Amino acid sequence: MSEQFNVIIVGAGIAGLCAAVEASTRAAKVLVIEKEAIIGGSSLLSGRFMAFAGTELQKENGIEDSKELLVKDMLEVGKGKNVKELVEVYGELQLNTYEWLKSNGVEFHAVRAASGHSVPRGHTILPEQAISTLYNRALKSGNVSFQLEASVKRLRKNSDGRISTVMYEKDGLEYFAKASEGIILTCGGFSKSEDLLEAFAPQLKAAIRIGGKGNTGDGLKLAWEHGAWIRDLPYLQGTYGFHPTASGEKKSQAHAFYKGAIIVNEHGNRFVNESLSYKLIGTEALKQPNNKSFQIWDQRIMNESVPGDALYDFENLYSLGLIHKAETIEELAQLIGIPEHNLLNTVSTYNSNILGGKDEEFGRNTLTHTFGTPIPIKQKPYYAMETTVAMLATYAGLSVNVDAEVLNAFNEPITGLYAAGEIAGGFHGAGYMTGSSLGKAAIFGRVAAQSALASTTEFKENVSMQ
Ligand SMILES: Cc1cc2nc3c(=O)[nH]c(=O)nc-3n(C[C@H](O)[C@H](O)[C@H](O)COP(=O)(O)OP(=O)(O)OC[C@H]3O[C@@H](n4cnc5c(N)ncnc54)[C@H](O)[C@@H]3O)c2cc1C
Repeated sequence: MSEQFNVIIVGAGIAGLCAAVEASTRAAKVLVIEKEAIIGGSSLLSGRFMAFAGTELQKENGIEDSKELLVKDMLEVGKGKNVKELVEVYGELQLNTYEWLKSNGVEFHAVRAASGHSVPRGHTILPEQAISTLYNRALKSGNVSFQLEASVKRLRKNSDGRISTVMYEKDGLEYFAKASEGIILTCGGFSKSEDLLEAFAPQLKAAIRIGGKGNTGDGLKLAWEHGAWIRDLPYLQGTYGFHPTASGEKKSQAHAFYKGAIIVNEHGNRFVNESLSYKLIGTEALKQPNNKSFQIWDQRIMNESVPGDALYDFENLYSLGLIHKAETIEELAQLIGIPEHNLLNTVSTYNSNILGGKDEEFGRNTLTHTFGTPIPIKQKPYYAMETTVAMLATYAGLSVNVDAEVLNAFNEPITGLYAAGEIAGGFHGAGYMTGSSLGKAAIFGRVAAQSALASTTEFKENVSMQ
């Protein structure tokens, strides 16, 4: 006998929880199935940035932003390879979703500039706070039940050809559950699947693996069985900015390059414009000898350390022994084992180019995307952190339409099947704007629930009237 629900959600990261809360407010009977004992997936490990534009928090900080600028940035960073309609819906619904998250108790703390931002729009959350708040909100509604340590293994169609049933395993037993309105895949990406990474991204073999333990691409396989198409595969990229030890307990990460640090290889030579997306930097870093590179910065940048910040808490990384410090560039070079005169030469060439207003070598004239102005590295002491590339989120994913319906190779919806979050492709194209992954997960988690419950238009109409 199978249990009956209106909506079944596979995976309890931020996308699944937003879908659950949204569905619960529509009096739907919802089942969330999560493979791991602890909910949260990659969302729980995330760097905390959610990309929103035009928020009160930005206004309080004197930042002028708009949905139009956000959409422009995402399309620009994605080199126009993104599905424009999906990005536009992100733009249209993002402010409403920011307010909705706040009204459901999710706290936003600060706004920071990060990769792909032409103005600061990374709204920081504490992932544990956001995940536990949404989970409790879903539970409290009385409409949502959770099955933890339960892994969805297959999806089945009913006699009308509609995806209607999940088969899942728990405690070694097989269970079936039926959904009358829709099954929503929110089971994340495949950053922890060696077989899928080897098949689709062999160029990332040397990247360290970070991501939710359960993110093994199960959802892709579940949907492929029923003819789903996939988008953005050619653009799978790693993320630059992690210390080589970051695949362990601590996700030690520093983006000093977005504050003005330079990046050099083991010969002490720069190899990239440091203001580019950390995905593009990652691609170049993996081409360097022994995949080895270092961020180099000075005390002025060190002074911009932000306590507790996932990307900018340089002092904390220094106290953990992950950052080297020296009074001169030569001593720094000795500490990290690269030729002294090369590093000295690299820093002085960079400094004089920056002072002259033109980075002749790599064309850097901003800190990140079109934001900020680089200044010379010359205030001692100097710092270096060995930095590497991590495969932490896959971004390529199932083809979906603006209603979060999963599409087949002919762009036709696979009836009854929805997807949101990292498992959904088409949003980022050839590049990635920081915060848009958690952002799309929250926005399209809600859209998927509304579409399944056939009230998407109501949401969109409400938003366009604002
Ligand atoms: C270190 C790190 C830093 C990041 N920083 C940022 C950032 O600052 N901003 C940003 O926007 N993005 C960031 N990302 C990416 C972002 O965190 C993810 O893309 C996003 O959290 C994905 O959310 P999700 O809900 O789609 O998936 P997840 O949060 O990964 O949740 C998916 C869930 O599905 C479960 N699941 C998988 N298969 C099954 C199955 N067969 N049955 C049942 N359950 C299953 C998993 O166990 C998991 O709990 C970062 C990622 C990492 C790892």
